Amino acid sequence: MVFRRSLLCLAAVLCLVLCSCVPYEANAVSSMQKYSGTFYGAFDTIISLIGYAEKEETFNTAFAETQKLFEHYHRIYDAYNAYEGVNNLYAVNKYAGAGPVPAEPELIDLLLYMKELQPLLLDRVNVALGSVLSCWHEYRTIGEAVPPIEQLQALAEHCNYDDVIIDKDAGTVFFADPHLLLDVGAVAKGYACERAAEALLNGPMPSFIISAGGNVRCGLAPKDGRKHWGVGIQDPLSEPFLNKMLDVIYTHEMSVVTSGDYQRFYEVNGTRYHHIIDPDTLFPSDYMHSVTVLTQDSALADALSTCFFLLPYEKGRALADSLEGVEVYWVLEDGSIHFTDGMGALLQSQGASSLR
Ligand code: ADP
Ligand code: MG
Repeated sequence: MVFRRSLLCLAAVLCLVLCSCVPYEANAVSSMQKYSGTFYGAFDTIISLIGYAEKEETFNTAFAETQKLFEHYHRIYDAYNAYEGVNNLYAVNKYAGAGPVPAEPELIDLLLYMKELQPLLLDRVNVALGSVLSCWHEYRTIGEAVPPIEQLQALAEHCNYDDVIIDKDAGTVFFADPHLLLDVGAVAKGYACERAAEALLNGPMPSFIISAGGNVRCGLAPKDGRKHWGVGIQDPLSEPFLNKMLDVIYTHEMSVVTSGDYQRFYEVNGTRYHHIIDPDTLFPSDYMHSVTVLTQDSALADALSTCFFLLPYEKGRALADSLEGVEVYWVLEDGSIHFTDGMGALLQSQGASSLR
């Protein structure tokens, strides 16, 4: 059985909207109105934007530009479809094994960003794992079996990111290993979300919140007297349509990104196989049900949430405690919940509120 993420994302969006409507006592209420809109298509998910603006027209323009930007990045980072005139990931994967091929600057920038992040990610998140991930993708799409380990092991021989030669000046990418494939799914949505947030923060509607299927990016605080946005943490163990929340994080000008085993998975003989693959076992990792990361940059939050999902709690906790400006909330495989001290200070259950 294959479960589409879209419905789950809709639930997450509704959850977010409910959260942002937590009752409040207005202090310093401005003349701005709250507007919201939703679109579907980019990054295979429902994306919503809520913003405070003086005029509806301001919101409508910001919304249209945000949608355009997400669609633009989606085409560039799409590993499965070609688009006329776009040197996207699909084209790079298809031709870069034969020699250097032109790649869109936005793709080159993301690939270089991931080279930079590599040491931080403890070899857990590797965008060169594409051959293994596309094999899982094929099996998940059919939904009847899991890939044989021998096949995965053979593909894993071709996953060295050092074999990806990026020439920023020439605008090209070359795979020194012709069997290598790239997959930027662990970070692309967050990277695009951050670019959208940059544009909004520099425009006429800097008070906003974007929700893009597990990736939330908050702009300036809501202009209605509250000091923070409320971002719900979904309970990964409840039925998605019940939309049960474990807690609410109160924050602004921050990203809140969740990686979970409930977002995209399929079942074979009663066992669930989700989409985040442990590079050692080449199978879905089983340390966590979900990990939520709070940090300013959405791309970093996205890469880190996938990384923490692939680390046992103790290792993840040590990494989180070593990072400045990064807070984490874990729901372990046994259902137990842990969070960093800084995360605790932002949680509704620990006394935080949108007003303080
Ligand atoms: P989501 O895409 O559901 O928001 P994540 O950000 O955690 O969740 O990214 C999961 C995606 O990352 C997978 O769909 C796949 O494309 C990719 N991926 C899975 N495992 C790895 C890995 N070990 N290294 C790099 N990318 C991975
Ligand atoms: Mg991620």
